[in-house]
Amino acid sequence: MKITILSLFPEILSGFFESSIMKRAVERNLVEYELVDIRDYATDRHRKCDDEVYGGGAGMLMLPGPLGMALDAAGAGEARTVFMTPSGRLLNQALARDLSTEARLILICGRYEGIDQRIVDKFVDDEVSIGDYVLSSGEVAAMVLVDAVYRLIPGVISGESLAEESFSGSAGDSHDTGPLGPSLLEYPQYTRPADYATMKVPDVLTSGHHAKILRWRLKEQLRKTLAYRPELLATGGLPKEALDLLREISTEGGET
Ligand code: SAM
Repeated sequence: MKITILSLFPEILSGFFESSIMKRAVERNLVEYELVDIRDYATDRHRKCDDEVYGGGAGMLMLPGPLGMALDAAGAGEARTVFMTPSGRLLNQALARDLSTEARLILICGRYEGIDQRIVDKFVDDEVSIGDYVLSSGEVAAMVLVDAVYRLIPGVISGESLAEESFSGSAGDSHDTGPLGPSLLEYPQYTRPADYATMKVPDVLTSGHHAKILRWRLKEQLRKTLAYRPELLATGGLPKEALDLLREISTEGGET
């Protein structure tokens, strides 16, 4: 996949592509990236990229001219083009999976009050938000999207690791229900030492009893989902084993 990110502050993004798993994915040619400084397309000597908003109001808006030229040069017509904005649709695992199948992605990072609507109308395929809050610019949002997406590209990390994560249930979508029930949050996990700060790893996890471990994990997934994201369970479609475990949890009260 080739990812092009258009930004007024591309230096915020470079470290992200030069570290850890992403660095390896780039070295292995699974990901190619290009950081474009929108200011390089400014036409005046001050490299101006913003102006006042028509109709009045506080704040400035990114000029359509430089951004449009940057998008043309990046080949926006041939790539899925996404504008990062709090007024877009919410990013979730299903959208990340969908985007991970694209050969080319272009992301636009906004600044100030955002971008001119004509850029959205002319170039943008998707407007995506990373959550119901407002950041000062789109670079962090773009990194969140890219991080959620590139790790799903085959070969970047093992399929086994992905399969057991939160939101990676049968439907692969936190808001969907598949034949085996809705996606759940991940169960608690432990590593060595078995006794840390007088807290012991649950006995079942060191028992070697595979079926009991699976049952414990499912129960803890349900407990956590019920506590933090009960709406995921409200979609219905839970298998009988999960419904039985939920009943067990409700009779346990606050205990774990
Ligand atoms: N005036 C905009 C509004 O009320 O929707 C907010 C603009 S924000 C200060 C500047 C830029 O940060 C946006 O254009 C967008 O690129 C980025 N941004 C802020 N919050 C975001 C979020 N939750 N998801 C994605 N991008 C976000």
